[in-house]
Amino acid sequence: MELSKRLSVIAGLVTPGGRVADVGSDHGYLPIDLVRRGICPGAIAIDVGKGPLARAKAHIQEQGLTDRIEVRLGDGLTPLLPGEADTIVIAGMGGPLMQRILADGEKTAKAAKELVLSPQSDVREFRRFLKTEGYTVTGEQMLQEDGKYYAAMRVIPQPDPDEWTEAEYAYGKWLIRERPPVLMAFLQKKLASCEEILGRLDQADPGKAAARRREVEAKIREIQDILNLSGEEGEKSLSAMEKDGKG
Ligand code: SAM
Repeated sequence: MELSKRLSVIAGLVTPGGRVADVGSDHGYLPIDLVRRGICPGAIAIDVGKGPLARAKAHIQEQGLTDRIEVRLGDGLTPLLPGEADTIVIAGMGGPLMQRILADGEKTAKAAKELVLSPQSDVREFRRFLKTEGYTVTGEQMLQEDGKYYAAMRVIPQPDPDEWTEAEYAYGKWLIRERPPVLMAFLQKKLASCEEILGRLDQADPGKAAARRREVEAKIREIQDILNLSGEEGEKSLSAMEKDGKG
């Protein structure tokens, strides 16, 4: 059993030695891998679906790990008591669902030593939620798999005293600081898509498109800031768009 690149990155963010709860475990591959490699002594695989949980159970049995990995049926963090897990992993779900799970199970989430979180949508809003709700992101990874980009973050349940810029909410404070090539590729792709949107807005009713245009231009500036095009080159890029009738 080999983990996908995405799950390997997520597993790599788990601090060794603690008990892990994997919420929305589905196939159970993540807890199986962590226990098999001795990263954690035991784990709890949670899922709201009977089918996925049965799949996890079968895989755990195949690997001979039933004495070390428990399966629990239920919604989000409901099947877990505060303090039962050192690390809570929630991955492979949309950001709004993950926010709901963390909000409903706040007591349990805040009792963990760390959380490893990988929302698959609305990541800007998810990071804002973490900051507002008293979590600190201590590290973040980004990866590309099958043409899709994923973010995975390690979080501790302690308020973050730092102010975040809008770009940091959008693309991750740690990622912006560390500038991995995968982030740069992601930003280039985003930039191209924003420029394409601007091009399409040219065809639209100018009155109706004005607000959307300002929004997209702000995103472009945000991306150019990170790509280090914000100075002279960024200005050039924006004025080139103006000349093209896109500005
Ligand atoms: N975590 C694995 C991963 O990242 O590969 C599996 C992700 S799978 C796409 C999402 C899983 O989350 C499904 O098995 C689904 O049943 C489960 N799920 C969805 N909502 C849930 C909830 N509220 N509580 C627990 N599990 C949930």
